[in-house]
Amino acid sequence: MENFIVSARKYRPSTFDTVVGQGSITATLKNAIKNKQLAQAYLFCGPRGVGKTTCARIFAKTINCLNLTPELEACNECESCKAFNENRSYNIHELDAASNNSVDDIRQLIDKVRIPPQIGKYSIYIVDEVHMLSTAAFNAFLKTLEEPPAHAKFILATTEKHKILPTILSRCQIFDFNRMKVENIVGHLQNLAKKEGIEADPNGLNVIAQKADGGMRDALSFFDQIVSFSGKKFTYQDVINNLNVLDYEYYFRLVDYFKAGDVVNSLLIFNEILNKGFDAHHFVTGLSQHLRDIMVCRDAATVQLLEVGADIKDRYKKQAQESTLPFLYTALNITNRCDLDYRDSKNKRLLVELMLMQLCNIGGKIVSQTSVNQSVAQPQIQAPAPQQNIQQTPKETIPQATIQTPQQTIPQTATKPATQVVSTAQTQPSATTQPQQNVGQISIRELMQRQKQQAEAQQQKLQEEKAAQAPIQSNECQDFTPEQVELLWKKLAEIYKTKKPRLHAIFASSVPKIKDNYVLEMSLQNSLQIDTINEVKTGFVGYVRKELHNSKIEIVTKVEENNSNSNVVYTDVDKFNFLNSQNNNLGILKTELNLDFV
Ligand SMILES: [Zn+2]
Repeated sequence: MENFIVSARKYRPSTFDTVVGQGSITATLKNAIKNKQLAQAYLFCGPRGVGKTTCARIFAKTINCLNLTPELEACNECESCKAFNENRSYNIHELDAASNNSVDDIRQLIDKVRIPPQIGKYSIYIVDEVHMLSTAAFNAFLKTLEEPPAHAKFILATTEKHKILPTILSRCQIFDFNRMKVENIVGHLQNLAKKEGIEADPNGLNVIAQKADGGMRDALSFFDQIVSFSGKKFTYQDVINNLNVLDYEYYFRLVDYFKAGDVVNSLLIFNEILNKGFDAHHFVTGLSQHLRDIMVCRDAATVQLLEVGADIKDRYKKQAQESTLPFLYTALNITNRCDLDYRDSKNKRLLVELMLMQLCNIGGKIVSQTSVNQSVAQPQIQAPAPQQNIQQTPKETIPQATIQTPQQTIPQTATKPATQVVSTAQTQPSATTQPQQNVGQISIRELMQRQKQQAEAQQQKLQEEKAAQAPIQSNECQDFTPEQVELLWKKLAEIYKTKKPRLHAIFASSVPKIKDNYVLEMSLQNSLQIDTINEVKTGFVGYVRKELHNSKIEIVTKVEENNSNSNVVYTDVDKFNFLNSQNNNLGILKTELNLDFV
């Protein structure tokens, strides 16, 4: 590459008109110049690479130009303009506070402020990353900022406005620079490509703009990177390879597979993505974004929220027409939940695969069977769920299926799925998923009935758990008889009869022996049963102590000695339970997909 000049420098705008995407700011600054109402100090706030320093320099050049154009732009021809353009003007002083943040640095700057400019009217002091100044430096600066000489203008720039002292804020005219829109960046890159004779795929430019996340400087450096890699012509494929961006083609295909209930191909695509070295979490958030993009495409009013190129937009629109709102809601809920659970998951790959399976099962495409022995996988909840969640759940989920007008529902999507997941997924993971899965097929009345049943079931469960966890009355220490224990165990078995058959079986079959010091010893058949008991032990020990009026009761477990086959598994249920004890994601899988034993 001969004489390769970084685009960010080569194509730095030199007049207000050429600044991209900050129209209202440049208009205000020009107006101030026109009306000769210049402030002493300006504060330019906004994310990196959106044109703060560029605007500061143009402003400095323009107010010093000896021969302003009728459009109030710098002429770029007078002596002052030339000096600015060639970086040799004495009227501009830049201080990068990120690396020069001491009192001495500021004092040096203040010393210069007193000297009037030789050519032109104003000396401009640009302090970049001003929030980095030390407190002492800030204080030293304050006095000058309060009463600067008429020829001195300050432009402070920061990416973190909240870190600026109020005393500084009150002395500055503040401009908030926005993130640039994708279309603005694409437009700018297109111009630049034309000037450089580079044939650039618009979809590729779009990816660059999205990856730059509103920052022109980043977009330009990505552009340079790709040009130096691919030369004078580059395609969408070149861009995604070079910037390590996941091809949206995958997402389009996946959504089609979800609708067809094609688990196999969905899992294969995910595998391919992982093999290419992409991060699974990145994939999940990308999928959420894709579903969101489809969602906004469903309505003419929100289609403008889609930040993609024109021809790809048609594909989004097409997929949007083919997708129902309930499908999209449910899918977004599922991906969002996966996103939230991702960090805590021990088997991240399985979590994502599970998400894909659930997405394929929207509308109950994989298994229509609904009678499931839910207890097997139901996670144990240590603390009673807060009352409000239980009341909230049915209220929040019903609108998903009932509201059909997109205008009403779309604004909710940005926030609802997330909050809903937080409020329900953490407390009752298995309870909320079932109605959502079949949302596409079942009638609203059915849905409401299910919600009602679920709310009732949850209430009952809550009461049980409350009872089980009720605090011990006092330091009671009454003696008790084996008959009392037996009776109590029958009661426990009864409590768990419908909800947790495994616990029911244990309590029904193994009444504990009373040992010394109020120890109750339960003989169990295998280690799996011990695990099952341990999961709920804290709760039911309290319950036993309360019922038998003895706060010293301890419960211990052991595997029956004469049961030599204790760890041999022989039925399907046993095999499953054993495997589930090794990896409880299996149980979740079973519940989520409504699987049952044949
Ligand atoms: Zn000029």
